[in-house]
Amino acid sequence: MNKPSIVVLGAGYGGIMTTTKLQKMIGDTEADITLVNKHDYHYQTTWLHENAAGTLHHDRTRLPIKDVVNFNKVNFVQDTVVSIDPDNKVVKLEDGELTYDYLVIGLGFESATFGIEGLGENAYMLNNINSARRIRDLIEYNFAQYNIYKEDRQDLITIVVGGAGFTGIELVGELANRIPELCQEYDVDPSKVRLLNVEAGPTALAGFDEELVEYAMNRLEEKGVEFRLNTMIKSCSENGIIVEKDGEQEEIASKNVIWAAGVRGNSIVEESGFEVGRGRVAVRQDLRTPDYDDVFVVGDCAAFFEEGAERPFPPTAQIAMQMADTAAHNLKQLVNGQDELEGFEPDIKGTVASLGHTDAIGVIFDDKKLYGRSASIMKKVIDNRYLLKLGGVGLLLKKGKLDMYH
Ligand code: FAD
Ligand code: NAD
Repeated sequence: MNKPSIVVLGAGYGGIMTTTKLQKMIGDTEADITLVNKHDYHYQTTWLHENAAGTLHHDRTRLPIKDVVNFNKVNFVQDTVVSIDPDNKVVKLEDGELTYDYLVIGLGFESATFGIEGLGENAYMLNNINSARRIRDLIEYNFAQYNIYKEDRQDLITIVVGGAGFTGIELVGELANRIPELCQEYDVDPSKVRLLNVEAGPTALAGFDEELVEYAMNRLEEKGVEFRLNTMIKSCSENGIIVEKDGEQEEIASKNVIWAAGVRGNSIVEESGFEVGRGRVAVRQDLRTPDYDDVFVVGDCAAFFEEGAERPFPPTAQIAMQMADTAAHNLKQLVNGQDELEGFEPDIKGTVASLGHTDAIGVIFDDKKLYGRSASIMKKVIDNRYLLKLGGVGLLLKKGKLDMYH
């Protein structure tokens, strides 16, 4: 009898954790496992704001897939997924195609631009290593240019971050740390630099603990962040953005517009005909799609609703990793001819967001609030725990944030 084949698409948190679990749980004689990813590295999306600001080199964030996936047990295909045909069980790649018996979709997120004029063409998105590196280079280049011009080119040293969700807040936190270094490096007067965080809603981090949000905003304001709340980005051009507040429009000139105001699931999933909401498939409790018994979705391409809930869990790395456990367990069952699958049970251990090097806010164990250095240490503990889980002590020592106090 032919061995069933399992194909995992994407080596983000969901995909790589599913693969490393499968390689431990499923023997060579039970199934063939294939992992497809655009690059030969996995990256920690949760550190991209540091790469974009230039406070952490992107080589710290990415790690070779071969260091954590055993290529004797898993067939690794470095290629780009173009489309999925679930009726014929075929995945089209840029450079060929693959057939499968079971598929795991873990293609992650993209920036959602909500149809805002000019945003896709002119704003800089933060969603992978390449886009983060481009933001770092853009800002450095614009600072380097500032002194070349005779006229005061304020737009070159005005940085606009759209959205004050967790991504926007973490990014302005890092930028606030980086700007003094950039000023020193490129002879720019720090008092001239503007760092704006534009948010459509009445507060940053809507829905998060109010006391911690206040702490975060105060700390960031002290470091030079200008919050523009109740202010909607309406359009973006190569010269900056137009915002609207209370029906009044204003133009903000900036050559550094970074859009961090929302995400959606990878559009390949929608384009392949799966039914989605904001690019995410509303998966069954066992993480399979509603229509296909052989297709699982993990991470940001999946919307998981607890039974009876109106809203899905937010797309986070924490959820993506936990989904990997369930998907791997259920795949093992199916491969072994068992049709009893387990339901996904999210276990939210907390949320911690960084505000720059040694500052952060967080809530852990349901209601324990953390802020300042203790929250920052907790954030590093969470990051290190992930590396330990993924690649053991070796990976932790190579890539971990071991200096807790910096
Ligand atoms: P991703 O991490 O998006 O990975 C997708 C993978 O698929 C990548 O390897 C990519 O190269 C690959 N891929 C994409 N398209 C293709 C294709 N066509 N062909 C082949 N391969 C492809 N969440 C938290 O829980 N805690 C945090 O502290 C946190 N911080 C964050 C900070 C930032 C700056 C951002 C942007 C997000 C943060 N998140 C955090 C959210 C978290 O990063 C995402 O929820 C998580 O990355 C989703 O994981 P994933 O496995 O779905 O996919
Ligand atoms: P988000 O959707 O959580 O926040 C986007 C923000 O942008 C919202 O506050 C929204 O009001 C604002 N916005 C939308 N359109 C706008 C417009 N036109 N003008 C101005 N503001 C606008 O997105 P995110 O922050 O990228 O987070 C995505 C996911 O990643 C979330 O699930 C989040 O929890 C997770 N994440 C977690 C962490 C962490 O745990 N430390 C860090 C980053 C991201």
